[in-house]
Amino acid sequence: MKFNLEVYLNLSADANLAQNVLNEFFNNEANIIIQKGAPAGHGAKIIEYNVNKNIIKLVIESDQYVRAHDALLRLRKPLASIMGKEFKIGIRQINIEKFTIEIESEKPVNNKIPYVKNISFKDGIIKLELDAGTSGTLGQSELENRIPDRIINLIEEKLEDYGGKSEHWELLWESAPKSFNFDKDPTKEMMKEGWIKRGYNRGQWIYGPEATHLFRTFEKIVLKEVIEPLGYSEMIFPKLVPWEVWMKSGHAQGVYPEIYYVCPPKTRDPEYWEEVIDHYKVSQEIPLEIIKDKIDLPIGGMCYAQCPSFWGFLNKTTLPTDELPIKVFDRSGTSHRYESGGIHGIERVDEFHRIELVWLGSKEQTLEQAEKLKARYKFIFEEILEIQWRKAWVTPWFMAQEGKSGLADMEGAGTVDYEAIMPYNDNWIEIQNLSVNAEKYTKGFNVKSQNQEPLWSGCSGVGLERWASAFISQHGLNPENWPEKFKKYFGEMPKGIQTL
Ligand code: ATP
Ligand code: ZN
Ligand code: MG
Repeated sequence: MKFNLEVYLNLSADANLAQNVLNEFFNNEANIIIQKGAPAGHGAKIIEYNVNKNIIKLVIESDQYVRAHDALLRLRKPLASIMGKEFKIGIRQINIEKFTIEIESEKPVNNKIPYVKNISFKDGIIKLELDAGTSGTLGQSELENRIPDRIINLIEEKLEDYGGKSEHWELLWESAPKSFNFDKDPTKEMMKEGWIKRGYNRGQWIYGPEATHLFRTFEKIVLKEVIEPLGYSEMIFPKLVPWEVWMKSGHAQGVYPEIYYVCPPKTRDPEYWEEVIDHYKVSQEIPLEIIKDKIDLPIGGMCYAQCPSFWGFLNKTTLPTDELPIKVFDRSGTSHRYESGGIHGIERVDEFHRIELVWLGSKEQTLEQAEKLKARYKFIFEEILEIQWRKAWVTPWFMAQEGKSGLADMEGAGTVDYEAIMPYNDNWIEIQNLSVNAEKYTKGFNVKSQNQEPLWSGCSGVGLERWASAFISQHGLNPENWPEKFKKYFGEMPKGIQTL
């Protein structure tokens, strides 16, 4: 890696009188400062320096050991101190004239990178010309905020080939194979029977009384078999998620293609909206182009992962050790994802229903709780739903989100996916998951334990559409063919809505 940085230091007064002292500094001490900590022969070098009235020009070249911008920041204080003491001269501003970074690579990077004006690839070198200069976006505060380092991290991330987005998948457990007496598409069959109908939005369904009762039965099972015995308390998590929450949870790293964005009106003044209202009255069409100008930038999006919103409740708090582990759940609303196009059944929808469990405590408590949940889930799938299912150890969501595969270096942390087979197309679908998130959330939201020990957390999302897809595709729609224990939970089939 090679850095070349050209800067102008704007001084508060003419520095010609300080010339000798500056020469002395830049020829000697400065070089020691900007090589400190680097292996011998490495670090940064000042390759050009001159003083002209109230401007010092510097060109710094470096390798990766003391990056040129770090070298510059290292020089600032000692320089200010020698000029301030004797000559009462201060550094007003640092103007970055040019900044180029060269990275060895076997292949180019073809993305548009923020703060990079030009990116080229030649003879095994990627050359980044940062957007410096008077009209550039990279200034002093960007250097101080470590923007160049993040640019390099991003380039390196893009160069490491993960084989597309290939994710880790390792079978942990598999139920005994079953023979099924149903082999149809559950969505189509439920539509035929009038249990469900398509909503107006893509990937949206309207659930009739029968399907709703099925969902409520799943909820009842989770309540009676998991939540009550393990002592989880119900909460209501917000379902509109502002950016701040996703910045803290880590979802801001990559969730963009899949979220439904939320834009508020620029003002709620009725006069401001009169044009839209009048337009609709006359044309009977929604004037989307006019609306587009009258709404503000997105403030965030609709609930995507359900648990991030919970953490606002604990943000910047310290928890009494004897209150741990904390165990809560939410089933208060929908989750929304902009899924891939094409027709899917209810197993992949843009608006779905999920019970989300969240727990937190010491590492041991968090892992122990995960095992208890796994045991309860196994009991449900084996003894109540009687489905064919399996469990796999997968790339944790927070690494998938950030574009990294493999397993977290936090031992014990990770995600278990639960999958069930749909006999009609022989596909396995993920029906729920369970993650131990280590300190991902507690650090993100600055939550601490009274006893200073690391605070871990876990979460588990039970997707009702996915349970329904698995259950119906394996057992069919006729309650007579359903497992005994499930029938008890289900009770009587509600009367559906008949149409002519
Ligand atoms: P998939 O790989 O099937 O898209 P995912 O990895 O995106 O699943 P997670 O982000 O782990 O799913 O979400 C947790 C749970 O939320 C899933 O196990 C599933 O039950 C439910 N879920 C996620 N996306 C959908 C969807 N589009 N439709 C219905 N349920 C969903
Ligand atoms: Zn979660
Ligand atoms: Mg998905």
